[in-house]
Amino acid sequence: MDFKLSEEQLLIKEAARDFAKNELLPGVIERDEKQEFPKEQVKKMAELGFLGMMTSPEYGGSGMDTISYVMVMEEISKIDASCSVIVSVNNSLVCWGLENYGTEEQKKKYLTRLASGEIIGAFCLSEPEAGSDATSQKTTAIEKDGHYIINGTKNWITNGGTADVYLVIAQTHPEKKHKGINAFILEKGMPGFEIGPKEQKLGIRGSDTHSLIFNDVKVPKENRIGEDGFGFKFAMKTLAGGRIGIAAQALGIASGAYELAKEYSKVRKSFGTEICNHQAIAFKLADMHTQIEAARHLVIKAAWDKDNGHDYDLSGAMAKLYASQVAMDTAIEAVQIHGGNGYVKEYHVERLMRDAKITQIYEGTSEIQKIVISRGLLAE
Ligand SMILES: Cc1cc2nc3c(=O)[nH]c(=O)nc-3n(C[C@H](O)[C@H](O)[C@H](O)COP(=O)(O)OP(=O)(O)OC[C@H]3O[C@@H](n4cnc5c(N)ncnc54)[C@H](O)[C@@H]3O)c2cc1C
Repeated sequence: MDFKLSEEQLLIKEAARDFAKNELLPGVIERDEKQEFPKEQVKKMAELGFLGMMTSPEYGGSGMDTISYVMVMEEISKIDASCSVIVSVNNSLVCWGLENYGTEEQKKKYLTRLASGEIIGAFCLSEPEAGSDATSQKTTAIEKDGHYIINGTKNWITNGGTADVYLVIAQTHPEKKHKGINAFILEKGMPGFEIGPKEQKLGIRGSDTHSLIFNDVKVPKENRIGEDGFGFKFAMKTLAGGRIGIAAQALGIASGAYELAKEYSKVRKSFGTEICNHQAIAFKLADMHTQIEAARHLVIKAAWDKDNGHDYDLSGAMAKLYASQVAMDTAIEAVQIHGGNGYVKEYHVERLMRDAKITQIYEGTSEIQKIVISRGLLAE
């Protein structure tokens, strides 16, 4: 067993760390405050090849492995989780889904531009009445004269206002329940496609979250992904990989908070000594570091499973469940170690604490991860 990263993986991790420090850190507090989408930063991430990391170079991607991807996700999330969710959705949900299940024409038309970061994509599954229970899709896609007519509403869509391409899940044959669901490629500007107002959020405030409304949107039949009825499987397969990205995001938030807390504890003094010399603080750091290392091993194992053709439904769900809890716990303790300074924006840990929460909610809540894990175990 070899726990060492390859030279290439180390180089990409270093590049992501430098990028996050030099390009994301300046302005991160202001973007969070104003809920400002990181437009310039996304452009730079595209130049670095971070938006299509695992996509083959044939389709405009960087052709890297999942381990490199989680390294980049961790480094970006240490500083700006709003940027890393953009990377995660574009890579894991949109590009991966299209590369693995799209037709050659769909890949040429859409994937090449998405993977190079020329445009970004969105993944649209959740609805007002279909979140954890994704089978309850109310959005309909009815076939008519070589097209599908889409009607309905999607909720909470990341990149909702800024994307150009949207992968939309909709019900075509309600009598077949989840086996009647399809996935479609929609483009911004299609007649009847409306973007709702931007959500005002607790965390990842730089990311752009909207509801989407479809009123008789006419989508060509060739924009359906896979066979008729493949949509639910498409969504589940795609989200299984997406969870590895979100687990890496959680890991990054945790390690970012830990690093800030450790440094602060070495300079802040109380009772005549640096606070890290109080055992209560030193033990917090010991717990944080141990839990982060455990989370890192779960994340890398899930990525390794994916890269080596093993099943990763269970390892990805375990990585997300555990890493998101570690992110939440670590960020709360990082605020505590900072005392009053932890409660103000300029020390960054309050933002990381707010950002951590979403990792327990999206791409399957922690409760849903436990369902995935327990079902997997009991089926063995
Ligand atoms: C900022 C943000 C960005 C998002 N981005 C996207 C996106 O890009 N695309 C997209 O499609 N969706 C996106 N989502 C939606 C997200 O995936 C859902 O919010 C999430 O899956 C939970 O669904 P829900 O909000 O409907 O909660 P509900 O399903 O209503 O769940 C409410 C609570 O009940 C629990 N619960 C539900 N069912 C069970 C059960 N069977 N057993 C035990 N507990 C249960 C849940 O765990 C949760 O605690 C985003 C959400 C947010 C907040």
